Amino acid sequence: MAITLLVVLVALGLFRSLQQEEQLQQQQRDYYLAQLQHSISSTLTAVEQDVSRLTYSPLLQHFLEQPSELWLQLLQQSYLSLARLRPDYDQIRFIDRDGMEVIRINRLQGGDAYVVPGAQLQSKAHRYYVIEGLRLAQGELYLSPLDLNIEQNDVEVPYKPMLRISMPVYQRQQLQGLVVINYLGQQLLDNLQSALPERISPLLWNASGHWLHGGEGRDWQFMFTERTGLSVELPSQWQLAQQQTQGQLTAGNDCYVYQWVNHDSDHLKAPRWLLGFRDEGQGCTALQARYMKLGGQLLAAGLGGGLLLLWGGCRLRQRQWHMDQHIRHREHQLRLITDEVGSGLIMVDQQGCVRWMNPEAERLLGWTEAELLGQELHPVIHVTLSGQVLHAEACPTLEALRTGERQHAERDFFRTREGNILPVHTTVTPLLEESCEGGAVITFSDDSGHLEAENRLRHQAMTDELTGCLNRRATLQLLERLLASPDSQPGVVLFDIDHFKQVNDRYGHAAGDRVLSYYAQEIRELLRSGDGFGRIGGEEFLIVLDDIHMDSLLQLAERFRQRFDERRCPVDEHRLHVTASFGVAVRQPGESAHALMVRADTALYRAKEQGRNRVEWAPELERSA
Ligand code: GH3
Ligand code: MG
Ligand code: MG
Repeated sequence: MAITLLVVLVALGLFRSLQQEEQLQQQQRDYYLAQLQHSISSTLTAVEQDVSRLTYSPLLQHFLEQPSELWLQLLQQSYLSLARLRPDYDQIRFIDRDGMEVIRINRLQGGDAYVVPGAQLQSKAHRYYVIEGLRLAQGELYLSPLDLNIEQNDVEVPYKPMLRISMPVYQRQQLQGLVVINYLGQQLLDNLQSALPERISPLLWNASGHWLHGGEGRDWQFMFTERTGLSVELPSQWQLAQQQTQGQLTAGNDCYVYQWVNHDSDHLKAPRWLLGFRDEGQGCTALQARYMKLGGQLLAAGLGGGLLLLWGGCRLRQRQWHMDQHIRHREHQLRLITDEVGSGLIMVDQQGCVRWMNPEAERLLGWTEAELLGQELHPVIHVTLSGQVLHAEACPTLEALRTGERQHAERDFFRTREGNILPVHTTVTPLLEESCEGGAVITFSDDSGHLEAENRLRHQAMTDELTGCLNRRATLQLLERLLASPDSQPGVVLFDIDHFKQVNDRYGHAAGDRVLSYYAQEIRELLRSGDGFGRIGGEEFLIVLDDIHMDSLLQLAERFRQRFDERRCPVDEHRLHVTASFGVAVRQPGESAHALMVRADTALYRAKEQGRNRVEWAPELERSA
């Protein structure tokens, strides 16, 4: 994709650049062609003007009206002076209407002009420029093709390129003859070269595509054979060139840039020429070829680079694939191991969101990995024993993520999917950021078994085995706890079974035990869940009630007493009846547990003294000021 884009961009860039260069090249070529054309037309215009001047010269008119030797000589002199002024005129002639030369100015080989004596004048009636010239109407001009001069039916050597311009002379609508200037074509050809920079060769062909200039050995060959020129060298291109006003021809390594020149006009019959110049060593498609080559090189480089990148990419992907395979294999191994581990494992990211969990964790929590994936773990499962969401500060996972230190919690609680509280034993190991993306692994195991055993032990440690009441230590601890606030007003009921010794003595110790547990149960039934009830001595019990008034306490104690009195404990065939004596006290502000117990004990003692099976209350002590 990227390679295609690159290729398209390069191609577009090159195409634009090529277009600009082609435009520049075309502008330059147009300029050269215009220069060449200007050179030819200015040369020819000057000759035309001279022919016109001679045609309409009053001297000639006068001579034609009154032909005389004097006027002839005057005419000859005027022609001669023109020939001397214009060294590029080879001959200047006046030919009569029969084609006979009347005046002829010749030029010596590369030298001066002279008047040809009358005896040497010839008839030119059959020469094409005479025939053509005499056919013209008044005011018209004839320009001959450019060819080599012929003397006595042979091409003059050294070659003398020649151009003849003739104009008919009329007098009173009557054709009188023809003014002819032979123009030395070499001058015209030399002018072409000076119109162009030196390195560029001007080219000139005649209307038939024959070489006139620039063809090296081929110039003027048409004077000897017809089978020469562009029609022979480049037949198909020549065919095309004949139909176009300008264009270019590819000739070997060169490019001929051409334009047809037609000097023809209303009053001038002129042949057309193919004028141009040679771009040496530069085929006509050189520019395109250069760009094609450049494009090819760039494309090859681009493709090479692209292939290299592709190869590199493939290698990289291959390595990545191998690494992925390796990682997947390791992951599989790790899963097998973690699946077998007896502990729950949960991996969280740096934000404490679940990334992975093992089947044991799923089993313990009831959540599947898919359900918790990406969720913040702490608010979902981390709770207190009572089911409240645990404060984040107390969360070992968050603590491990925060500090980067391993955390351990002997007793933690997770809420399962069903809402049960699962006591767990947790270790949180932070993952180092260098080796992975951070986060932590939580290892936890079900701690319910421990908790139960612990609870059982705790319960045992607090409970009186025989009666199921609190034992002495637990009862006094409870009292201490209720008295922790100096303003609390708990009340106590201390009671002791009357003459219990006799029960033991009469029915045996086991029966005594049975009585103790039976009446403890009877009293328990009269208590509320928050009330404390403990056995603090052999047959001595203490009831602790939170915030109570003396009246209520007395009523309650009375109900306890009645319960003893009205119930009978079945032991074997007997139904044993015992009573109890009660001492009641309400805590005075700031009073210690010991002081309160002393007062209650005093009241109990009084109840025993006053006949047992009764309730006595402890009066408030006078407070010292
Ligand atoms: P009082 O009315 O003055 O309280 O007379 P009492 O006989 O109940 O009091 P005393 O202190 O003389 O006797 C208490 C008896 O309770 C003595 C002891 O053997 C008996 N006792 C203490 N603990 C237990 C026990 O756990 N089981 C049984 N069966 N008897 C016990
Ligand atoms: Mg007793
Ligand atoms: Mg006692």
